[in-house]
Amino acid sequence: MSTVVFVKEQVDNEKRCSCLPSNVKAFVKLGMNVCVESGIGEKLHISDAEYAEVGAKVETDRARLFNDADFILSIHPLMKEELELSKTSACCISFLDPFNALDHITWLQKSGRSALSMELIPRSSRCQKMDALSSQASLAGYVMVAQAMFALPKVFPMMMTPSGTIKPTKVFVIGAGVAGLQAIATAKRLGASVIAYDTRETVAEQVRSLGAKFLEIDLGETGQNEQGYANALSQQQIELQQKAQADCIKDADVVITTAQLFGRKPPLLIKKDVIRQMRAGSVIVDMAAESGGNVEGTVAGENVVYEGVTIIGMGNWSSNVAFHASQMYANNLQALLMEFWNEEEKRPVLDLSDEILQTALITHKGQLINPSIKALLTQECN
Ligand code: NAD
Repeated sequence: MSTVVFVKEQVDNEKRCSCLPSNVKAFVKLGMNVCVESGIGEKLHISDAEYAEVGAKVETDRARLFNDADFILSIHPLMKEELELSKTSACCISFLDPFNALDHITWLQKSGRSALSMELIPRSSRCQKMDALSSQASLAGYVMVAQAMFALPKVFPMMMTPSGTIKPTKVFVIGAGVAGLQAIATAKRLGASVIAYDTRETVAEQVRSLGAKFLEIDLGETGQNEQGYANALSQQQIELQQKAQADCIKDADVVITTAQLFGRKPPLLIKKDVIRQMRAGSVIVDMAAESGGNVEGTVAGENVVYEGVTIIGMGNWSSNVAFHASQMYANNLQALLMEFWNEEEKRPVLDLSDEILQTALITHKGQLINPSIKALLTQECN
């Protein structure tokens, strides 16, 4: 019988966890040993007893937890010093930020351990139930609107009252992927007037179907790759975009930026000269703050005020709705392990010919598996 271990997150201010009692129940039913670190659900007000009741072993000694594991599951990547306590055959699964953690990846490879990156689960119909990037991004879209709502000294909906008529708040969303579409839907539900822009023209219809307007900007050839991710723009196209969206930004009460380029630094889309032209009291929420920012002057992990405009860059957005974020992430992990469940061996078996593992698995038994990471590391060595 193999043992799946869920550790308590060690990152400051992280409220989420990688396993709820309902997931324990499902793993136990399947025939796995489940071990959770004591206190794993405390920030969600889920006690150790609730995990134990459904069949988990609750471990207080973190070293012993690593020792016993065949699969080690978490949200954030685990440190080398801790993984060293695990068997070399162990497989760790978490967000790994692999493009920015090449030294760690090299260590994982050399140590023989397997590492699976939740960021690299393919974007396909088969993988939707395991897609943690999407589950967390969707909640981030919701949270960003909530943050903007509390920072803005206005209400979102139109109100016609005996005390006066209130115009709806104007929200401009840049980037209409998973997070952006949820931000649009949330702002619409709150009664705001919403306009959005994305370089992938295919999303215009999705934006309109949510009742928002789509800002048309002719940038020439833009497009997306086979995974649905946007292609990077040329410097000339970025400048064209910055100019064309400036009026929308100046007119907005709230601007939410969600523009990302997978595996690369996000594009800088709003410069200080445009922020200075916004109305004082307006709010910008920069989803990309932690990875470089879409907005000039954004500070990762903080809210700053520039010329009267609040720029929210706090990051780790889904942790603000930690219960549902944990539920979705834990279900993504459960779906992933179940996808590779082998009934005869009563354990998940990593079949390297599977397209999911060819992409999401970074290291396995001393080999580099994901082709992009492999190419990057091979390049570094030469
Ligand atoms: P993402 O987080 O990489 O990017 C967010 C958005 O920013 C994208 O819509 C992108 O087009 C946009 N963007 C990039 N540069 C921009 C710029 N200069 N200006 C404005 N917008 C810019 O992407 P994501 O939200 O994770 O996913 C993107 C798409 O992938 C989805 O909309 C969908 O089509 C596809 N997807 C498919 C599946 C699936 O099939 N299972 C799952 C998730 C996503």
